[in-house]
Amino acid sequence: MSNYRPLSEAEAIEYARQIPELFSPGAELVSREIGDGNLNLVFHISEPSTGKSIILKQALPYAKVVGESWPLTLDRARIESEALQIEESLCPDLVPHVYAYEKDLALTVMEDLSDHVIMRRGLIEGNRYPLFAEHISRFLANTLFFTSDLGMNQQAKKLQQGRFINPELCKITEDLIFSDPYRDADTNNIEAHIRDAAEQIWTDNELQLEVSLLREKFLTKSQALLHGDLHTGSIFIKPDSTKVIDPEFAYYGPMGFDIGAVLANLLLNFAAQEGWSKDASSRADYRQYLLQTVRDVWTGFERSFRQLWTESGVDVMFSSEAYQNHFMSELLKDVFGYTGAKMVRRVYGLAHVADIDKIEDTAARERAQRIALAIGTTLIRQHRKAATIEEMIDIAAKSV
Ligand code: ADP
Ligand code: MG
Ligand code: MG
Ligand code: MG
Repeated sequence: MSNYRPLSEAEAIEYARQIPELFSPGAELVSREIGDGNLNLVFHISEPSTGKSIILKQALPYAKVVGESWPLTLDRARIESEALQIEESLCPDLVPHVYAYEKDLALTVMEDLSDHVIMRRGLIEGNRYPLFAEHISRFLANTLFFTSDLGMNQQAKKLQQGRFINPELCKITEDLIFSDPYRDADTNNIEAHIRDAAEQIWTDNELQLEVSLLREKFLTKSQALLHGDLHTGSIFIKPDSTKVIDPEFAYYGPMGFDIGAVLANLLLNFAAQEGWSKDASSRADYRQYLLQTVRDVWTGFERSFRQLWTESGVDVMFSSEAYQNHFMSELLKDVFGYTGAKMVRRVYGLAHVADIDKIEDTAARERAQRIALAIGTTLIRQHRKAATIEEMIDIAAKSV
């Protein structure tokens, strides 16, 4: 075994002191553990006299789920820091800078983004982020294109893929997104008032076939290096800046999974609006804003991705317009399916979202859950026929 041990706040300070050219020698430093404590420790370390600060994120060797510890590889800290560095090389303004990674302690030292807010919270508070769609579509286009066989040397891609196999974190996704919600699994966390909807899904063979197809693609389609957990809790935001954090689930998978994660979380907030905007007209406005953002994320992604492809494609067999059109239309189908799958699991699977769960009024919360399930299951059912992003917007608009 290595020299691994979970750091205390005082040990985190001592570690941070060694980082060159950051804190003043001998300075008084302050450390606070700010993570939610389920998977990782997150220390905020600052030097009050200069205002300098950093984040030190350390992986724990287990996850606390369903009341028990579930052993989980420390190697995910390497995966996270390497993925952040690849992302930084492709879109430096959209991720935190990594100062250091230390293998034995499974820790990453990175830029402090405390002047941003977690986007899930920002949306719950009803904020609008006019630059978000441009930022996230550029993040998606650059990270997915330049790690795929379209945009990188294909031998180098295979070697890179070998550094991101990530079986333990993939298994979490395989179970919690593509298996457990579709049967009466112990991990499900079902509020009694929507149990009927879950039970209906467990016996819906048509829906289950579509989920099996999405699961198969998640297991086998090594298209690009994914972030792997790109929900609005992994996005830090403020009006002029967007930063993607927490890529510990990174692996080579289907591109539509990351794009779908972003769209699903916008639509989960859409489903939950009755809990957050109390009057009908501001609610309708905010929902319009969210749907416009869904549209802008996909269209912005498609525009940037096609442009990168035309300018920087590496494979002559993939350079025709007909192939590019085919690829984009298949990708949109995956996006529909993964958006739907990401929504369903958040309603009654193991891990929910605050957008819905924090609605105090039970009747409003139930309506949010049923709207999210209606959108999610429709997207899954129709994903292989999807042809334009407008269909997703119509499905959402018709659900309320
Ligand atoms: P986990 O993998 O445990 O979900 P995250 O990377 O999502 O860990 O971080 C958990 C929380 O720690 C975030 O929601 C945020 O509040 C805080 N945090 C993480 N990274 C940073 C950062 N670079 N700057 C400021 N706060 C951060
Ligand atoms: Mg804590
Ligand atoms: Mg996180
Ligand atoms: Mg995480």
